[in-house]
Amino acid sequence: MTSTPQAGFLRIDDVVKDFGGGAVAVNHVSVDIAKGEIFALLGSSGCGKTTLLRMLAGFETPTSGRIVLDGKDLAGLPPYARPLNMMFQSYALFPHLTVWDNIAFGLRRDKLPAAEVAARVETMLKLVQLGKYGKRKPHQLSGGQQQRVALARSLAKKPQLLLLDEPLGALDKKLREETQIELVNIIEEVGVTCVMVTHDQEEAMTMASRIAVMSEGRFLQVGAPADIYETPATRFVADFIGNVNLMDGAVTVDQPDHVVISCADCTHYVGHGITGTEGMEVTVALRPEKIQLSRDAPAGEHGPHNRTRGKVKNLAYFGSFTVFHIQLPSGAMLKVSQNNSERHRDDVITWDDEVWAHWSPSAHVVLTQ
Ligand code: ATP
Repeated sequence: MTSTPQAGFLRIDDVVKDFGGGAVAVNHVSVDIAKGEIFALLGSSGCGKTTLLRMLAGFETPTSGRIVLDGKDLAGLPPYARPLNMMFQSYALFPHLTVWDNIAFGLRRDKLPAAEVAARVETMLKLVQLGKYGKRKPHQLSGGQQQRVALARSLAKKPQLLLLDEPLGALDKKLREETQIELVNIIEEVGVTCVMVTHDQEEAMTMASRIAVMSEGRFLQVGAPADIYETPATRFVADFIGNVNLMDGAVTVDQPDHVVISCADCTHYVGHGITGTEGMEVTVALRPEKIQLSRDAPAGEHGPHNRTRGKVKNLAYFGSFTVFHIQLPSGAMLKVSQNNSERHRDDVITWDDEVWAHWSPSAHVVLTQ
């Protein structure tokens, strides 16, 4: 079986995994992944992401469909014969071996000549910036350093494909953020193609070149992080990725260059046409950071549209930004986040203030499914 380079280095073709008893863990999933991509499978618990990863690794057999890596169908190849490596959340370094020996372990098992083992281990130690730590035991390293040793060990055998299962789940938030960037730099330097599983959307957004949002065994949307965030295809994806205000309404004006959508608390002037008709029921998705707050009525160019008034019921200060919960006339809550770009302001908006919320005609996404 061959595939052209354009068709994808890793091709997942209509793959199904049916465990029986009504549990279809992976349901007709297809995607082409390019060489050097970091591709994230993102979804909540039970959506099928681990099962898909395990099929790539060879620990599970697809019920139907094909997995093709660099033109070669992987069907029938046991895990150890696949040109890939899987790194787990519990990175399982051998505690009694030094860092150097941990990295050398798989190479020695493959009976590589000692000189080549030494050369590869040294290269890997340098790559993960642990050149001086070769003689230490894992317990003498920080969590982030241990993670880098695990990555070095996974990359030492020069796999064509690296599979990461919740790679940073064991690290605390700050270390996780630092390590995310380090891992991406290392993976990109080596140029290895990577599929990672995560339920942490920030991790997927920071690390991946593309994300597949999964639910109930299916890919709901595949795209670059910014595309998925700014142009979610469905209500589920909009709600799953980041914070969003979802407002149900109906199209009342339908023009090629704009539409107006009436919702309970406001009317939306959307500065582009949509596929639909007047009267159609839609949902408007509006991200909290795309809304402005003011005490005075906004002098918007779109008259009565793209604005609403409400009362601050709650606010949460996060340092660099503050999230306001504004109660609208219908009782619905509007989430608004504002950057704290100045240290002190005389006119800070606070609890129980009556405020205007307003937004631009390009702030929304109109969702029909
Ligand atoms: P988590 O984040 O909790 O690991 P996940 O998205 O990785 O979740 P999977 O582990 O792939 O989800 O499971 C997908 C579905 O398949 C679940 O409903 C699970 O119960 C079911 N499943 C997984 N493995 C088996 C198995 N060996 N036998 C039967 N059902 C299974």
